[in-house]
Amino acid sequence: MSYALVVAETRRNIFEERNMDSIGLCSLMGKDAFLLIPFGDYNVNEQYLNGIIKVKVEESMFLNPVVMVNILEKIMASHGKPYLMVFTNSASGTELASYAAGYFNVPIITDVSAYDKERGTFSKSYYSDKIFGEFKPSGEGTFIITVRSGSFKENLCDRNANPSLEIVEDVETNTTRTFMEFVEEEKSGIDITKAEFLLSIGRGTGNNEEVAEYEELAKLLKAVISGSRPVIDKLWLPKTHQVGTSGKTVKPKVYLAMGISGAFQHIAGMKDSDCIIAVNKDPEAPIFQYAHYGIIGDMHKVRDKLKEMLKEG
Ligand SMILES: Cc1cc2nc3c(=O)[nH]c(=O)nc-3n(C[C@H](O)[C@H](O)[C@H](O)COP(=O)(O)OP(=O)(O)OC[C@H]3O[C@@H](n4cnc5c(N)ncnc54)[C@H](O)[C@@H]3O)c2cc1C
Repeated sequence: MSYALVVAETRRNIFEERNMDSIGLCSLMGKDAFLLIPFGDYNVNEQYLNGIIKVKVEESMFLNPVVMVNILEKIMASHGKPYLMVFTNSASGTELASYAAGYFNVPIITDVSAYDKERGTFSKSYYSDKIFGEFKPSGEGTFIITVRSGSFKENLCDRNANPSLEIVEDVETNTTRTFMEFVEEEKSGIDITKAEFLLSIGRGTGNNEEVAEYEELAKLLKAVISGSRPVIDKLWLPKTHQVGTSGKTVKPKVYLAMGISGAFQHIAGMKDSDCIIAVNKDPEAPIFQYAHYGIIGDMHKVRDKLKEMLKEG
């Protein structure tokens, strides 16, 4: 029970960078890390691992929770139960992890972003990092963690040895669920990651009718328009224009954020911009902690004033 089993997230033969956070957690906990990955040519940073277990199944099968528990059962039969199983906190990682927790009837802690080694506690955030909850798995058995991207990469610890390599074959893949295809996000032709000036709008925009007014302002500013997630979820702007952890990471010369509160998922995608200007009616809005310049006020009034000035030339 001393090893940690890290279930890799892969997509189209790419080893997702966020796996390094799962492995980093194992380093921090001082656990031997064994990486479970589909058979294929993946670019894995082997120096942080004690072992690699390659499973002879298609990637799509590896993403199937019913197949995954078959794989995990096979590993446990030959290696014994792991101390913990680590998954990424992505859509596919949480699906696999929660199914496995139910199947094996073991505790699960999701979206973990910190670990206190002395107390053996895991932390996760609520309400955009306003509150943190601490959890400790009870009992002596295996438990499952899903890891928030970006949380533990800095804890990676070199193992100074070649990891062992094992191939797992003959996994039962006959399930009632069939993977169809990966669906690519639609391309809008505009790449917000290349823009030098982004005008980013948030929920404070109010409604869809106002968006056209901000698009006009963006044009006058020679900026590209982008938005926070609610703006995309409400279909005010296409998905390709979303800034943040589940959108794009941007680094323009100027990032003008209007009606955006500054949730960490948004900040993570724009904090490295050269100059951040925030407009928000709430002086306590977290975005002001990251802004180089701030205007406390009604974004629509600021917009109209800017348009007036730019039109006057
Ligand atoms: C797994 C996950 C992934 C996520 N990924 C992303 C992501 O990629 N990108 C992202 O942005 N979010 C993401 N989120 C959502 C994120 O947590 C926040 O909910 C979101 O960023 C809030 O968007 P917002 O700032 O536009 O809205 P709100 O938080 O509602 O803020 C609106 C702001 O507008 C201000 N305001 C209102 N009216 C006016 C006005 N007239 N004038 C001036 N100011 C006004 C308010 O004071 C408020 O600060 C994610 C969440 C999860 C759980």
